[in-house]
This record gives sequence, structure tokens and C-alpha cells, in this order.
Amino acid sequence: MRETKFIFITGGVLSSLGKGMAAASLGTLLKARGLSVTIQKLDPYINIDPGTMNPTQHGEVFVTDDGAETDLDLGHYERYLGVPLSQRNNYTSGSIYYSVITKERRGDYLGGTVQVIPHITDEIKLAICSLAENKTDVAIIEIGGTVGDIESQPFLEAIRQLRGDLGKERCLFIHLTLVPYLAAAGEHKTKPTQHSVKELRSIGIHPDIILCRCESQVSPDLKRKIAHFCDVDEDAVFSSVDVDNVYKLPLEFYKEGLDQKVAIMLRLPARNADLAAWEHLVFALSNPKDCVNIGIIGKYVSLKEAYKSLHEALVHGGIANKLKVNLTYINSEEVTADTAAGLLSGLDGILVPGGFGERGVAGKVQTVQYARENMIPFFGICLGLQCAVIEYTRNVLGLADADSEEFAADAEHKVIYLMTEWFDYHKNAKVRRDKNSDKGGTMRLGAYPCVIREGSLAFAAYGSKKISERHRHRYEVNNKYREALEAKGIIFSGLSPDGELAEMIELTDHPWFLGCQFHPEFKSTPMNPHPLFRAFIEAALKNKRSAASGSCCKMDSDSEKSFS
Ligand code: GLN
Repeated sequence: MRETKFIFITGGVLSSLGKGMAAASLGTLLKARGLSVTIQKLDPYINIDPGTMNPTQHGEVFVTDDGAETDLDLGHYERYLGVPLSQRNNYTSGSIYYSVITKERRGDYLGGTVQVIPHITDEIKLAICSLAENKTDVAIIEIGGTVGDIESQPFLEAIRQLRGDLGKERCLFIHLTLVPYLAAAGEHKTKPTQHSVKELRSIGIHPDIILCRCESQVSPDLKRKIAHFCDVDEDAVFSSVDVDNVYKLPLEFYKEGLDQKVAIMLRLPARNADLAAWEHLVFALSNPKDCVNIGIIGKYVSLKEAYKSLHEALVHGGIANKLKVNLTYINSEEVTADTAAGLLSGLDGILVPGGFGERGVAGKVQTVQYARENMIPFFGICLGLQCAVIEYTRNVLGLADADSEEFAADAEHKVIYLMTEWFDYHKNAKVRRDKNSDKGGTMRLGAYPCVIREGSLAFAAYGSKKISERHRHRYEVNNKYREALEAKGIIFSGLSPDGELAEMIELTDHPWFLGCQFHPEFKSTPMNPHPLFRAFIEAALKNKRSAASGSCCKMDSDSEKSFS
């Protein structure tokens, strides 16, 4: 039986260098060499998980099948590796401390003083080593933050110790730094990298490989210079170049031989990487046959990362249809009865994504009305479905005060409400939701089964009656209104197996109008575009081709905010 080898990726100089992307791309190459690979993210912040953070602070919260609310980098990992991850793939300082403090209260350390070293570092080591339980060939561990931060020190100390515990032949340190290009001097600069490696070595970690984030390839001379100053092999310095499409990165690393060097250093089986599927993917992305304009009408539009999986899933829907998808993010707070036509009329498809809280909801409801009345393909996800139900109840059923309990606890017609008792498929039992419990405790999280009605748009997309999708929400469609909604034309095309929870809604007298209570974007990958995104983009293309005016698309590489 092979022992798991560990690759630790640290970051230097500044944040946002793309450690997650680099980790996922390296994982892709190792998987393409026939190895089993898993990835873990260690985040230095104190929150137990990112679930309580505003998406405009830290980006989207990625949800796994087992209901873990995790860092968005896990989304990259799943999309690149095509394997479902779980709670054990993401730890934070908060979750590590929480576990140590729980043990302390339980008396596990009776008589001892509980300290960062060894108790916190041991807990981190346990979390890392838990990845070896499944006999995975390679575990890649990304340490969040930047070397030199106070917060990440216990993580760095833990991985330093692990190299001693597990042996050099089972551990590899990769350091990702910035090599800026100074236009005035006409050259790349290595000093920030030298300083960053010095910092890393001062805490006892000697990098084996240096990855240089740069605008363009670092020259062999410069690589040699970095190797000498940082004391690594001459052939252990690689470029991590800017790419116009993120799925090119594994191929860029491959060209430089990164996986080959890693395989040699860790003595991994030497099979060459089979990258045919990735080459095909990159070719498809670079050679679309046509394009569509899709609008995302949400309130977290100030940070692109807040809708990361959604963005990628729409791109995947484009790949499935050989189309380029131009995405326009529109702040839902700006959509009113007066502005809707001006803001939304050039779109071939409209998507209202998930969200929490009342801000921006009025504009989302207005957007649904616009898409419904103007026959524009509409896709509502989670809060998007809830807004669609609210809009329909108000404008078609004529119940003007229809609302969600989340925003209007006193409304007479709470068509979206907090269900207090429901069947939890994770616990295989009925559970009660306590309205007064803390914010973390009342969500429906993770994978839940759903049964699809034959003959529906959903059935046409999935081609199957039983599916499983990931959830992250508190509120549900109120069953009290289901009959009345059905009588007026809403189809409940997806339900929980016990029929109690509405999972999908549709309209018949519309080209493509679908809402889902779950988040399909979390399960879409470039190799396996999600059926609902594929169908939505297909409907958007049909709409574009049938529209008298036709929309005008930009086909160049930068798709954002480019429709006219
Ligand atoms: N705020 C809504 C709820 O909690 C929707 C959540 C979401 O869109 N993820 O039910």
C-alpha cells in the first residue's frame, strides 16, 4: 500500500496571487498522471467557517454534499478535480481552536497547560493527516494568508513539524510569490521573492519549489537568479503566468514541467500526464460558435468572487452549447419599475441568484416580473426561486402583500416561510427548526434528494427522475399556497421524496422559466456542465435567435460587462 505524500503550498508577498488556482491546477496534472489526489484549505481567520461572512468580504460560501460551508477555493478544487469534497477539506483557525477548547472543557488535557505549541499545532497536524486515511496518493494543502502574517503562524509551524514527523520524502513545500514586471525598467523583479523566501526560512521552512506569479514567462536567467538567492534547484523555479481563461493554467504548468519536477522530488510513479480532455476544453472555450448575453441580477455585485461558482457554471453552460457567455452583473437595488426595461432589455437570459436579507429583494422581484412578462428565459436560484414565487403570488394570484417571512414577518401571506418541522435526509429523521436558535443552526445545508416530474423542463434537462442537489437556505415555499399557485399555472416540477418541500418551480406559458430551491452551480464542472445551466443557455440562444432585434455580442476574450 502506497503512503500518502503531502504537498504544502504557501503564499508570499501579497494575497490574491492565485494559490487556490495553482493548487487545483497542480492537482489536475497529478490526477492526469493516474494518481488519486485530494486538496485541503487551511484558513487563518477565526470564524469557524465562512458561513457567517458577507460574500462581499470573502467571496462566495461553497457548500459540499455533507453540508459544510467552506472557502470558495474548494469550488476550484471540485471543478478541476471533478471529485466531491467534504468538511475535512477545509479548516479555519476558528475550527481548530474550537476543537481544542472543546477538548479542554471535556478534560482531555487534565493537568496540562493548553498552548499553541503543541496543542493547536497538534490539532492542525491531525486535520492534515486525516487526509491520508483514504489512502490517497497525494494530498495538496493550501495554507491561506501570506507568509509573515501573525494569523498563519501556527499553520506554518505545524507543517514545519510535519516534515520532521513524516520524513522529507513524503513532504514537499511549494512557495508562490509575486515576480512583478517593472515597465519603466523593462524587467521582472526578484527582490520581493527573495524577501518572502527569507521570511519563510526564518520560521524553518525551506521551499523545494518556487512558483512565480507573473504577467509573462520568467526568463531562464531570472529563474537561475531566483534559484541561487533562494537556495532551490535551478529547475525548481516555475512561472505561474496570467491567463485569459483559468482552465489554461494546468496546461501552462505542464508546459514548464511542474508536475514532472514534483513527481521526481516526491518519487511519484512516473506516468506522463494525459491532458487530452483539458486540451479539448481549452480549444472549445477559445472557439465558440456564437454567444449569448446573460444578466445576473443580485446585490453582491461589487465583488466578482461573490458569485464565483455561478459565474463558472454559466461558462460551463456555454461550453456545453459551444457558446461564449457574456456576463453582466446588475445591482438589483437599481432595478425598479422605471429602470427595468433600460437595464434588462439587451439580455438573452436573466438569472436571479441566491442571497440573504431584504436589501435588493424589491429589484429582484421586479426583475422576475420583467422576465416573465417579456418571455425572457429566467433562471431563479434559491432566493431567486423565492422571489419568483412572491412575484407570481402578488401579480397573478393578486395577493398584494405576499412576501417572505425573512423580510416581512408580519405579512398576511407569507408564501415563503420558515418551516419548523421537516425531514432531514442527513439525519434520516424528522427535525425541528427552532426560530430562536443561533444563525448557524437553522439552515438546510448540503445534498438533498429531489424527485422530478416527467414532462417538465427540469426532466428534459436532467433526463432523470431522481436527482440530488446542494442546499443553503432557511426558508421554504409555504405549502398552504401550493394549490392556488398550481391552479394559476405554476408547476412544482421538483419535490422532496416525501412531497413536503418544493424544490423546483416552472411556468408553462413561457419559453423557459425555472426556479430551484437548491444551488446547482456547486455541482457544475467544465468537464460535466450542469444540466440546468446547459438548458438555460440553450434557451437564451433560442431567445436571441427568435428576437426580432437580436442582441449584439462581443466575442473577444474578456466577457464581462461587454454586451451592448
Ligand atoms: N435567504 C433565503 C433563505 O434563507 C435564500 C438563501 C439563498 O439564496 N441561499 O431561505
